[in-house]
Amino acid sequence: MDTLYLVVPCYNEEEVLPETSRRLKEKLEGMVLEGLVDEKSRILFVDDGSRDKTWEIISRLHQEDPRFLGLKLSRNKGHQNALLAGLMTAKELCDMAISLDADLQDDVDAIDRFVLEYQNGCDIVYGVRSKRETDTWFKRTTAEGFYKVMQALGVDIVDNHADYRLMSRRALEGLAQFREVNLFLRGIVPLIGYKSAVVTYERSERFAGESKYPLKKMLSFAFDGITSFSVKPISFILGLGVLMTGISGLALLVLLVLWLLGWGVSGFGVLCGSLWLLGGIQLMALGMVGEYVGKIYKEVKARPKYIIETFLKDQEERG
Ligand code: UDP
Ligand code: MG
Repeated sequence: MDTLYLVVPCYNEEEVLPETSRRLKEKLEGMVLEGLVDEKSRILFVDDGSRDKTWEIISRLHQEDPRFLGLKLSRNKGHQNALLAGLMTAKELCDMAISLDADLQDDVDAIDRFVLEYQNGCDIVYGVRSKRETDTWFKRTTAEGFYKVMQALGVDIVDNHADYRLMSRRALEGLAQFREVNLFLRGIVPLIGYKSAVVTYERSERFAGESKYPLKKMLSFAFDGITSFSVKPISFILGLGVLMTGISGLALLVLLVLWLLGWGVSGFGVLCGSLWLLGGIQLMALGMVGEYVGKIYKEVKARPKYIIETFLKDQEERG
């Protein structure tokens, strides 16, 4: 029987924690009774440097029921880092871990289906929102635009999937090999590989309290996501420079030919052409430097180049 850890990042969630813990405990108990998961399964709350009573609530829960575990970060490090802290702690103790939000927006009843997919041999199971009606129009359109931009930039990212997902132990071990500081889990997890599946669920409204993701945090999250996964913006500059140089060079050439043929040539045209030519050359130079910076960037991240799934060993050596 496999041990399941539920990893829940919490930032100032005193309003929702009592209900969340009750619902998760009920769910876990049910699954243990059904024989779906081992009784050593736990619920791990990660306190991301909350300033309210979140940690008090977590410690009390832990005292009352050993099934609740708590991890307190030294200060607020943001959702993605809190999640990683929880997952890396769980990695040593579980066979699979499911990450979900503290505000009950991720449908708790979908957990069974995640586990069933795991038992079918999947290492990663993505929770995908079937509809976003509970989100505001603004959040919905910006989020959809974000997924489109990411995919256009060549980032392998699952549509409408946030951070509600199951990862097996070896998938977590794969994740641990990514050493980058700019964490964008949604982009990294697909890079780990292994067999994966999708479970759809309906995203409900925040149970209580306010979103901990104000617009500013959301924008910086999106910007981080793009810049830590793609150097295409740099190639775009290079492309623009080449285009500008090409067009203005051609225009100047035409003017030169006309002049040689004895036509009257406008000085304004020559001035404009050379201005654009210079601008183009500068952009091209910038883009070239950028390409190297992009390479350095990739090297510095030192991502694992591969993760081995199975190794059919030499029969004799097995011993
Ligand atoms: N969260 C966190 N650290 C932060 C911000 C948020 O751990 O700095 C947690 C939060 O407690 C919640 C999850 O991340 O469990 C998602 O946040 P929220 O529900 O506020 O985001 P939204 O659903 O509005 O996008
Ligand atoms: Mg939420």
